[in-house]
This record gives sequence, C-alpha cells and structure tokens, in this order.
Amino acid sequence: MKEQSFIPPSRMLMGPGPSDVSARVLEAMARPTIGHLDPQFISMMDEIKKLLQYTFITSNELTFAVSAPGMAGMECCFANLVEENDKVIICKNGFFGERMKENVERFGGIPVMVNDDWGQKIDLNKVEECLKENPDTKIVAFVHAETSTGALSDPKSLTELAHNYNCLSIVDTVTGLAGVPLKVDEWNIDAIYSGTQKCLSASPGLSPISFSEAAKEKIMSRKSKVKSWFLDLNLIMSYWEGEGGRSYHHTAPINALYGLHEALLILKEIGIENSWKKHMDNHLILRNGLEELGIEYLVKEEDRLPQLNSIFIPDGVDDLAARKRLLNDFNLEIGAGLGVLAGKIWRIGLMGQSSNKKNIEHCLDSIKQVI
Ligand SMILES: *Cc1c(COP(=O)(O)O)cnc(C)c1O
Repeated sequence: MKEQSFIPPSRMLMGPGPSDVSARVLEAMARPTIGHLDPQFISMMDEIKKLLQYTFITSNELTFAVSAPGMAGMECCFANLVEENDKVIICKNGFFGERMKENVERFGGIPVMVNDDWGQKIDLNKVEECLKENPDTKIVAFVHAETSTGALSDPKSLTELAHNYNCLSIVDTVTGLAGVPLKVDEWNIDAIYSGTQKCLSASPGLSPISFSEAAKEKIMSRKSKVKSWFLDLNLIMSYWEGEGGRSYHHTAPINALYGLHEALLILKEIGIENSWKKHMDNHLILRNGLEELGIEYLVKEEDRLPQLNSIFIPDGVDDLAARKRLLNDFNLEIGAGLGVLAGKIWRIGLMGQSSNKKNIEHCLDSIKQVI
C-alpha cells in the first residue's frame, strides 16, 4: 500500500485531553511560517505573554510557554528550583504526584511524600504535620486539578501553608487553568505550569508557565548550574524576556504558537471568569444526565473538577469493549481509569471547546447505548 496524506477521523474529544480544537485555532495554525526572530513574530510572542498573564491572573514577568508539553513544564519547575539535597514535600493524591517525585530525585533533591487516597483532595493537616516534621523543607509541590481522579485541591491554602514554613510552592495546573478559579498573584503562587491541550483547547505541545519574584530570585541565586540545558530558565529568560535583544536559544514551534495565541484570544473574548462559570454550568448538566442513568461519581461533590468527571463504570459493563464502541460507533473519546482506578472508572472531560451542550448530549446518548 502506498502512503497517503493522513486525514484524521472527526472525533469528539471528551477524555482527559486533548480537548476539541476549534476551527479558528486550526486556521491560525495553518498560516505561513515566518522566522522566529522576525520582529512581527516577536511582537506576537509578547502578546502571548500578556495573554498568559491575563489567564494566570499574574503580573509575573517570567511568564511564557515552554516549547514542549505539560510534562516539560513540570520538569522545568523542578529542574530550576531544586538543588542538590533540597527537601521537597510532594502531595500525592493521584497519578501525577508520582512523576513529581521522579523529577525531584533526578535533579538530586530529596522527595518527602504526603499521600492521600486517589479521588480525595489534598489534606492540609497532613501537609502541615509533614512540614513540622521536616523543618528543612524548601518546596511544597502539588497538583491543583488531578486529572487522574477528577479531584480539586486548594492552591491558595497550600501555598499559604508552604510560605508559613519558609517554602516555595510548585503548582501543577495543567488541567486547572481556565477550567476552575486560579489567581496566581492573589494566592502568591511561586511556580506554576499548565498545558495547551486541556481547558485552553489549543493543540498539544506547549506548556504555559509562570514564576514569582521569589522563585526567580531562587533560580538566579543557585549554587549549581541547572542540570537541564534546554529547560535552564537563566538561558530561556533572555530569549522570551529580552525585549529588543532576543537571541537564539532554540527555534520556537512557530505555528503551534499561532494556535496558542488564537486560543488565548478566544479565552479573553469569553473572559476568564466566564470560562470558569461555563465549565461549572456544563458540568452540572452532565452530572444531572449521568445521575439519571444511575451513574455515580468517584469524587465527593464539593471536591469535584467540573472539567474532569470521574464516574464508576456501571456493573456488568466491559470497560474496553464499551470504550471501543464509543470510539468506533459514536466517534466519542472518553478516558480510561489510571493506576489503581484502571477498569473501575471512566473519565469524561469537559474541557475548553469540548465543554458545550452538544457534546454533553452526544456523550449521554452514546453512553446510554453502550451500558
Ligand atoms: C495532562 C497532564 C500533564 C501532562 O501534560 P502533557 O501535555 O501530557 O505532557 C501533567 N499534569 C496533569 C495534572 C495533567 O493532567
């Protein structure tokens, strides 16, 4: 068989990401590639920075998109903020806490784990106890919106707690950004990273991040070099921030950045607070429909993420076969359970463009037919 152009099927993306990307964003990405040091491209990068500051609600100067997916945003935070033998408390209540631990270890730090059950939010009391037992801790790291379970934690209180014990906070808001309230400056968050393919509904492959002045100071006063060349913010800063004097660090993913720019414009047109509200309103519509089908949620109501609905697979339903039918017969992608929840739950994403009434109706109809 001869290779041909790839024409993807038309899917409805209601899993843990990527979410549906709008025609407007796809059109932006199809525009001609120009040089990444072209003054016009650089002004667009400056606009992306402003739009990201709007989205994170921060005036942090060090706010930009890492040229790689959410995992690189995670790695960028740990690579730059962790030094040899630094103690880092990691709050683990799902899949992504384990990856934070791996990062700390690889960059020479000492991870101290605070574990909560999958599906629970992070317990502040446990974190405080751990801080008391480990007064030499430098950083507290946690996931705002745990995509593996659908549980929402409280970055404001966790960061406050970290600061009370002279620690910085590293926050994973890959799924949180634009889906649930987040106020980086008001909550004094030190380092935070996200992804483009969840509630921002741009194509995957970029990681918006932001660092406070305190985090920046820590990075600039490091005793040792950052162990990753590509993610060393001391080098990247002159590329993204160097007004006028931008020099070559790497070639930016130009067309992907056109897409992010457009997605952020769309978000700003809607308004960040309206985006949070949209995600909650649509979540409630989906929840009501699922409850009518007798389906139950993993996470208790007050801790649920509106953009990631974890539901128990009804008794007697074959997980794999049902999801295969959803994909093949209904063009609907939903997420499987991860880790201890594999085979037990499904994860229905209502992120960004995918969070709308048409998707919800199609999702409910399709699930009704396969269960
Ligand atoms: C999706 C996700 C990531 C990883 O993002 P990628 O773009 O897949 O690298 C990290 N953390 C959380 C909470 C996520 O949901």
